[in-house]
Amino acid sequence: MICKTQQDYDGMRLAGKITGEALKYAKSLIRPNISTLELDKMIEKFIIDKGAIPSFKGYDGFPASICASVNEMVVHGIPSNDIILKEGDIVSIDLGVIINGYNGDAARTFAVGKIDSEKARLIEVTKDCFFKGINKLSVGAKLGELSHAIQCHAELNGYSVVRELVGHGIGHDMHESPEVPNYGNPTSGIRVKDGMCLAVEPMINMGSRYVALKDDSWGVYAIDHKPSAHYENTVIVTSKGVEITTMYEGENEDR
Ligand code: MG
Repeated sequence: MICKTQQDYDGMRLAGKITGEALKYAKSLIRPNISTLELDKMIEKFIIDKGAIPSFKGYDGFPASICASVNEMVVHGIPSNDIILKEGDIVSIDLGVIINGYNGDAARTFAVGKIDSEKARLIEVTKDCFFKGINKLSVGAKLGELSHAIQCHAELNGYSVVRELVGHGIGHDMHESPEVPNYGNPTSGIRVKDGMCLAVEPMINMGSRYVALKDDSWGVYAIDHKPSAHYENTVIVTSKGVEITTMYEGENEDR
């Protein structure tokens, strides 16, 4: 979507704010011995109590309000009673909300208790990839500049970029054009327009970039079973800069 009216900006901001608050709530719940289905139920209630709709539920038949992807799972993990978080895991929580016809979409990878330094570095670099990418976003810039910056930062750190899944435009629908790849040539892609809303979401693997689909036909996992991290925000690009709508209170925005 290209924001054109104050209503568009306000709508995207409110959807983003609730999305961020839901992620902050998710962070507060994560601990060893909780199942990903328990997380889903509590976060779903949180979103509904805010007056919003959990946009993932029923999307293409997805059965839950969050995606919860543990360790080698890249994205789209279906919450389950049988998936119990344990100390040392990392879990990516991806969620979206709709309110007043506007969408927010964001993801974080969280530590479960104490994690090893390799997993911690993967989470940090994945977050940094997002910021390296959005630093290249401006009105008139090629989207490929963002893609290239994300890929370079991941690969310089010895990681690989998942290519089968990409970021996307967002607005009245959760997934709109354009596609926002996390890899590619800096001269590729469309030129960014004033008011453009994008979900930027690097998915970074510690090992091979190759992924496979679980037999539930949703879950995407790293084929070498090494850990994977995901960091996503919904942003609005204007002539004043890049506004991140889905950061939550207390998160480090100083980059
Ligand atoms: Mg997304």
